[in-house]
Amino acid sequence: MTEDSKNNEHKSSISLGEKALGYIKYNQSSAAPDGYELWFNYASGLKPELNNQIKQMLSKSPRINQDQLDDLYNTYFCKNQIDDRMEEISSRVSFELNEVLEMVGNSLENAENYTESLDIFTSELADIEDKGSLKMMISSMAAATFEMAQKTKELEDNLVHSKEQITKLNKNIESIQAESMIDALTSIANRKKFDLTIHKEITYALDEDEPLCLIIADIDHFKSFNDNYGHQTGDQVLRLVASILSTNVKGRDLASRYGGEEFAIILPQTNLSNAAIVAEQIRKAVMNKELLKKSTGEKLGRITLSLGVAEFQTTDTIESLIARADKNLYAAKHGGRNQVKTDNNPPEIQISNQQVG
Ligand code: GH3
Ligand code: MG
Ligand code: MG
Repeated sequence: MTEDSKNNEHKSSISLGEKALGYIKYNQSSAAPDGYELWFNYASGLKPELNNQIKQMLSKSPRINQDQLDDLYNTYFCKNQIDDRMEEISSRVSFELNEVLEMVGNSLENAENYTESLDIFTSELADIEDKGSLKMMISSMAAATFEMAQKTKELEDNLVHSKEQITKLNKNIESIQAESMIDALTSIANRKKFDLTIHKEITYALDEDEPLCLIIADIDHFKSFNDNYGHQTGDQVLRLVASILSTNVKGRDLASRYGGEEFAIILPQTNLSNAAIVAEQIRKAVMNKELLKKSTGEKLGRITLSLGVAEFQTTDTIESLIARADKNLYAAKHGGRNQVKTDNNPPEIQISNQQVG
């Protein structure tokens, strides 16, 4: 890099840094490294989707608050850490593979040289007249064989080492893949995992002629909860709901964060009335939790969930199943919230419509 281009790069990074600080001051947001990283990226325009989302937010209100910034940071930056790690691992895997290819190439060359020596030895053997020459030939052949054996041993050791490295890298990839399926805030499955699982379970339900149900749950009036108690307390509530969902499902059921304050639960091998029972258990468990602010012990009342349940039909697609569960969730909201609605609300389920808080 020339002195001039170094100077230009320095100037442009200072100017981006100044812009980032300007945004921080204007929005009265935190200048801690996370916030600075976000605004620096905004100033640089390196992430067009981030810029579009921020512009959209700014078209609705003059400033972006800290809660929104935290969401943006989780969406655009945490995910990229996984991408960066995947990139690093894939470059290490390709490095190891190149090493192996080089070793195999060298070893083929060694084998060719050795075969050549053997050919020469065989043709010279025919013309041998005295014992002395024979002895010399045999000892040079023995040396070539010894060298070949040593090189083969070296190759074997190197291949074992490479195999260990590649196994380690594979394990890293597996753990990153598993991590990429977990929602960072609530530690339950994320939307990506949901998308993969619903596909897999619908295929299973069709192949095995088994029932399958989907529950979509949404926290009631969560916006005002956040407005009253702050986004961070809201985040704690999301964690609490996620843990209640996890404890109320079992076996191959999957509880996931579908997005924002919405959760989706896949219940394979479960018919509609059993799924409605699970939904009702979850509704009650959430409603029965009295929320306390850890730091102050302040009582925060209770939160409730509305839940929509749909059973998979052979004519369904993933989209139509989700749309039905959503429609039932919508009906639960319209019915007064804090309730479960199913495809046809089986009579054995006592659906409570009690509002708390
Ligand atoms: P409804 O009963 O109709 O569902 O009302 P609502 O207020 O829950 O629904 P609305 O869609 O108006 O608002 C959803 C709220 O969920 C607004 C948003 O701030 C909050 N939310 C979404 N994701 C998060 C998050 O990750 N953390 C926190 N604390 N709040 C979130
Ligand atoms: Mg919602
Ligand atoms: Mg809601």
